Amino acid sequence: TVVTRFAPSPTGFLHIGGARTALFNWLYARHNKGKFLLRIEDTDRERSTDAAIEAIFEGLKWLGLDWDEEPVFQFSRRERHAEVARQLLAEGKAYYCYASREELAEMRETARAEGRPPVYDGRWRDRDPSEVPAGVDPVVRFKSPNEGVTIVNDLVQGDVTFANEQLDDMILLRADGTPTYMLSVVVDDYDMGITDIIRGDDHLTNAARQQQLIEAIGWPVPRRAHIPLIHGPDGAKLSKRHGALGVEAYRDMGYLPEALRNYLLRLGWSHGDDEVISTEQAIDWFNIENIGKSAARFDFAKLENLNGIYIRNADDAYLTALVAPILAQKTGQEIDPNRLKLIEKAMNGLKERAKSVNSLADSSLFLIAERPLALDEKAESLITEEASAVLKQLADRLETLEIWDKDTVEEAVRATAEVAGLKLGKIAQPLRAALTGTTVSPGIFDVLEVLGREQSIGRIRDAVS
Ligand code: GLU
Repeated sequence: TVVTRFAPSPTGFLHIGGARTALFNWLYARHNKGKFLLRIEDTDRERSTDAAIEAIFEGLKWLGLDWDEEPVFQFSRRERHAEVARQLLAEGKAYYCYASREELAEMRETARAEGRPPVYDGRWRDRDPSEVPAGVDPVVRFKSPNEGVTIVNDLVQGDVTFANEQLDDMILLRADGTPTYMLSVVVDDYDMGITDIIRGDDHLTNAARQQQLIEAIGWPVPRRAHIPLIHGPDGAKLSKRHGALGVEAYRDMGYLPEALRNYLLRLGWSHGDDEVISTEQAIDWFNIENIGKSAARFDFAKLENLNGIYIRNADDAYLTALVAPILAQKTGQEIDPNRLKLIEKAMNGLKERAKSVNSLADSSLFLIAERPLALDEKAESLITEEASAVLKQLADRLETLEIWDKDTVEEAVRATAEVAGLKLGKIAQPLRAALTGTTVSPGIFDVLEVLGREQSIGRIRDAVS
């Protein structure tokens, strides 16, 4: 069975690139009816925070990426990692290195001067332990192969060859005895039974180093797929400068999780020309072969467009529930359930134009506004003397209606326009202004119907008085 994992370092928010990595691992696991595990790589004690861990959990939950089993916290497994290092020492596959800070700095300097990459020269690799200097705490280094090549059979990148002389003897345990990232990842992946690793291609060199270590220990090498990083619209690696924010920022901007997930899926994976892909389809279709080989560009306009599509297809009650807390925040009070019902009734018309949940909230504000309504400047300018006269006639006519629905109010508006010798638009615009306080809204007959008799007539009379 397939076991994948998402292994974020909790040093910041769950950013877009991480969310995509999580999504791909999740889809791959679900597609193969396997497991998707979560590992929090919290070994950097200075930079790891509880807030970041919380943001990762929340972000994944919001995106609907449920993980199997309890999350693994890497730091808590440090004893196990150290044990593997000691075993490598015992087998002669690792060694103590007593090189001082100064020596290492000098090594780097010389390499730079000679135009070589700054690699550790292995000076303690075969040294006689009797030479050990007093008072120096050694690090433990991996005895990596000096000759030949290491080939990473990557499912996206193909076979990537690394010259072993370029991969120096990496540190497994620091002088204080704490394990390094490279060792921890290898041990955890093995202990967690990980079969497939999907992650950013910035880890490709790590993959070669990890492979050497895995092979030295004699464990199976997981299948790996290194996906190209996400770039900004300008082609440079996606960064804060491009507005690459945490997932929760997208939620706060009013993106639906379904829309963001769909967008992330398309960012580096394709299924023909399909743009709108449901979760079921995504699970059904996801494969490694269709992961792109070049970096995908983050395109806000596309995300926004998808968001609009998802909003239009979303259930009205679901959207109303999302809008409610935003409205409560905007108005400073909980929204009365009856008014939420009103919003839900109007949702079908409101969502036609919406680009985000936030704009949906904005455009539903008029429904719950108290009388008399404050008209914005443009709306105010539409309530001319001539318009007021017609609106008064309309209010009188609306009062006579026995049934209040979309058809009867439409008939009343049209009749009023006809009597006044006006085109429908001439009355619809000031009417919209009076009813909504703005100049954009769903269809005016929908607005009348949803607002109801009392509010509609009241608002018209308020505006013309
Ligand atoms: N913790 C690493 C990161 O956040 C990922 C390690 C891995 O996927 O192997 O970049």
